[in-house]
Amino acid sequence: MTSEVKHLSSVEGSPRPAKRARLDDGASAPTAETEERMNASRAAEGMEGEDEYGEETATSTKGQVEPPKASDLYLDTINRAVLDFDFEKVCSVSLSNINIYGCLVCGKYFQGRGRNSYAFAHAIHDDHHVFINLETTKVYVLPDGYLVSDPSLEDIAFVLSPTFTPASIATLSTPVHLQKPSYDLANKPYIPGYIGLNNIKRNDYMNVVIHSLLHVPPLRDHLLLSNYRGKESELLKRFAGLAKKVWNPRLFKSQVSPHEFLQEVNRISAGKYSLEKQGDPVEFLGWLLNHLHKDIGGTKKKNSSVVFTTFQGEVQIKSTVSPFLFLAVDLPPPPLFQDSVEKNIIPQVSIQSVLAKYDGQKTQESAGHLRRFKCQRLPPYIILHFKRFTKNQFVEEKNPTIVNFPLRGLDFKEYLDAPESHPSTIYDLIANVTHESAVGTTHDKESTVWKVHLRAGAGGGENEKWFQIQDLIVEEIRKEMIVLGETILQIWERRTDAPSTTNGMDVDRA
Ligand SMILES: [Zn+2]
Repeated sequence: MTSEVKHLSSVEGSPRPAKRARLDDGASAPTAETEERMNASRAAEGMEGEDEYGEETATSTKGQVEPPKASDLYLDTINRAVLDFDFEKVCSVSLSNINIYGCLVCGKYFQGRGRNSYAFAHAIHDDHHVFINLETTKVYVLPDGYLVSDPSLEDIAFVLSPTFTPASIATLSTPVHLQKPSYDLANKPYIPGYIGLNNIKRNDYMNVVIHSLLHVPPLRDHLLLSNYRGKESELLKRFAGLAKKVWNPRLFKSQVSPHEFLQEVNRISAGKYSLEKQGDPVEFLGWLLNHLHKDIGGTKKKNSSVVFTTFQGEVQIKSTVSPFLFLAVDLPPPPLFQDSVEKNIIPQVSIQSVLAKYDGQKTQESAGHLRRFKCQRLPPYIILHFKRFTKNQFVEEKNPTIVNFPLRGLDFKEYLDAPESHPSTIYDLIANVTHESAVGTTHDKESTVWKVHLRAGAGGGENEKWFQIQDLIVEEIRKEMIVLGETILQIWERRTDAPSTTNGMDVDRA
C-alpha cells in the first residue's frame, strides 16, 4: 500500500520564515516604556504569592534595573528544538504539579522559582537561566528572578498555549486549508490537523479516536475556541489542549504526543483505558463522548452540549424512542468454510445492505428475541460502528468482511421512519478507522494495528484529499484505497448545502 501513497513532504511552498535574530536587532533593545512595564510586572508578580516556593526573589529585586544585555545573552541559550510541552506538567524532581516552570534550555520541568525552588537550583547547578511558567506563559531569568517580556518569545508561548479565533479556524475544513502548509523548526512542511500522534506504548487504539473526533467541525471548533481556566474537569482541559496542539499552525515539531491527555484518561477510567495495553477504540469512544458531554455541562436533555447537538440521534426500538450517540451495525456472518478466508477470498458487502438492518420494514434477531429498529432522527454527524468482533467461548473472533462504501453522498433516507420531515439525509464521510492484524479471523491483540483515514479539504474531486495516519506516520492516501481496509468506525457528515448538479464535480453519489 505504501507505493500507492504520496508523502506529505512533497508538498511545496515557501519555507518557514527565519527566526528574528534577537542580538542583531537593535530595535528590540528595551525602551524606557518596556523597562517600566518590566518593573511593574515584577511588582505584580511579587504580590501574587503563588506558593511557598514563592516570590521572595522577585520581591527582593523589585525596583532594581536589570542590565538588558544579560537577558539578551540568556535568550540566545534557548533551544527550541527540545521544547514541545506535551508531557504532564510535573516537576522532574518533586513530581508536584503546582507552579511548574519549563527550562527553555533543556526542556525539563521544575517547581517554583524562589530561592529554595528546584528551578532556582537548576539555574545555578546547570547554568540554564531561562524558564517559562507553564500556566501563565510568562518567562523569567533565574537565579536573578526577573521577568522577560520580549516579542521573540511569543512563538514559544504559542507552542505552549496555542490560541484560535473564529477567523483563524474558518477555513480548516475547506480546500483553502490545504493550500497553506505550515513549517516546523526543521522547515518540514505539515498541514495543521493532519499530523502524527505518538504511540507511547499501546495507545494507537486511542489515537485513532482522538483524531476522528478532532476532525468533526462543531466539536473541534468548540474546543479550539475554548478557554478553560476555571473549575472545568482536567479531562476536558487536556482534551481541548490536545485539540489546539493538533491544529496548531506554528508547531516546532510536526507531531504531538497525547501523553498528558492519556494520563488523565487512565486516571479517570481507573486504568481501563491505558497507554500500556491494547483496547477497543469503540468502547473508548463511547466512554470519552459521555465524559466530554458531562464535563462540558451537558444533561439528559437534547442539545444540552456540543456532543449531543453533534452526534445524538433517536432510534425507535419496539415502542420506545431512545437517544443514541452512535449506531452499531452487524456485519453478515462470514463464510463457514475458513479455507476461503485463508485463500484471501474476502467476503464483501455494501454499506447499504449493512444499514438495511435499521430499516423499519425489517426485523433482526438478537439474543433470542426480535428487535425492531426505526431511526426517528439522524444527527448532523453519524457515527457508525461495524461490529466486527464477536466473543465466543474461547477467543474473540473477527469478521473479515469488507464493507463497500462511497466517500460521498450516502443517503440514509431508507433507514428513517419519517424521511419527508427530516433535514437532508445525504451524508459525506469525514473519518474512517480501520483494523489490521495477522491473517485469520481471530482478533490478535498483539499484532493489531489501528489506522485512521481523515478527510481534508472537502467537496469531492481535486478539492478533497485524504490522509492515512498511523501514530506518527502521516501519508496522503488515494481515495480508492480507503474502502480496502477492515473498517470499524466511521463518522459521516450531513451535507447542508443543496446537492449541486451544475458543477459536474459531484458524480460519486450513491
Ligand atoms: Zn535546563
